Amino acid sequence: MSRRFWSDLTTRLEPYTPGEQPQGDNLLKLNTNESPYPPSERVLEALGALTGDELLRYPDPEATALRQAAADFHGIAVNCVFAGNGSDEVLSHVFQGLLKHSRELLFPDISYSFYPVWCQLHGVPYRKVPLREDFSIHAEDYDSAAAAVIVPNPNAPTGLLAPLTVIRQFLESAPDRLLVVDEAYIDFGGESAVPLLSEYDNLLVVQTLSKSRALAGLRIGMAFGSPALIEGLERIKDSFNSYPLGVAAQRAGTEAYRDSDWFRQSCNAVMANRQSLTDALVALGFEVLPSAANFVFVKHSAVSGRFIFDALREEGVIIRRWDKPRIEDYLRITIGTEEQCQRLVETLGQVLTDL
Ligand code: PMP
Repeated sequence: MSRRFWSDLTTRLEPYTPGEQPQGDNLLKLNTNESPYPPSERVLEALGALTGDELLRYPDPEATALRQAAADFHGIAVNCVFAGNGSDEVLSHVFQGLLKHSRELLFPDISYSFYPVWCQLHGVPYRKVPLREDFSIHAEDYDSAAAAVIVPNPNAPTGLLAPLTVIRQFLESAPDRLLVVDEAYIDFGGESAVPLLSEYDNLLVVQTLSKSRALAGLRIGMAFGSPALIEGLERIKDSFNSYPLGVAAQRAGTEAYRDSDWFRQSCNAVMANRQSLTDALVALGFEVLPSAANFVFVKHSAVSGRFIFDALREEGVIIRRWDKPRIEDYLRITIGTEEQCQRLVETLGQVLTDL
């Protein structure tokens, strides 16, 4: 029987399931950890000022201004900075090139569900390392002979932060193993590993402008590492798509890095809302893991995760849950504005009293 080789694609590859992007007027969307606040006015002005002459040309293939603004923000050299279309693309390049190796890649068993998909796609051998009982990550659980380790910090979807001492242990216990720290949610109270770049050349830090800089719609991701690692990523990028980001994304990202006042205020507002939401959820009978992210990971003491998820959905409130061992009763809720958090709490109160 003749078989078309591409029919295997659907069985060989288990794709990533992205969070839903439902459309509707009265929906409260707290499922994909976007910023609840629009981006800085400076960003919006820069986008509005784009001219036809700028748009008719291809963008700067080096994303020079954006990389320089990111370098200035972090106090590092521009040749330590890489830019891509969202950190998903940056991470895909990392898996594609830097980690294509006969030795294994390790990551926590509960972490970003895209990692195993990229491993399958790019043929990277991998092993998941169980989180401890309390969901914490410990460097000594990770084999020093592995090619690389990737950890989200704070972890997703737990929101738990590994302190920099743990990141240092990872780096020191295996100087020839690459450590990739995925800091998508680092700006909401975490301590970034970027300052460690001056001490360790086996470190790559990946960040995004989708969360703390409110630019998910433009797809801007960054990586920070030694010039050699960044050069490696550049070569991979050039072999695929030598224009990393469109003109609008480069311009907006540059302004977003420059407007550090807006950035701090917006992160502080999200953290304040996180605290009030945590208090309200505890009062409703939830266990709330201590979060350093723009979401909380919660479990009710008496009611199943699936029930609450479905009941909220009926009321137009969309959150996230996974049918995975250990976390099937947990719910991940994005921190919204004060009003959005209030609507969530009122709806939850209603759902729980209707039982
Ligand atoms: N890493 C983690 C841990 C994430 O949760 C996300 C967002 N889904 C990303 C990376 C990718 O973010 P983006 O592509 O929007 O930069």
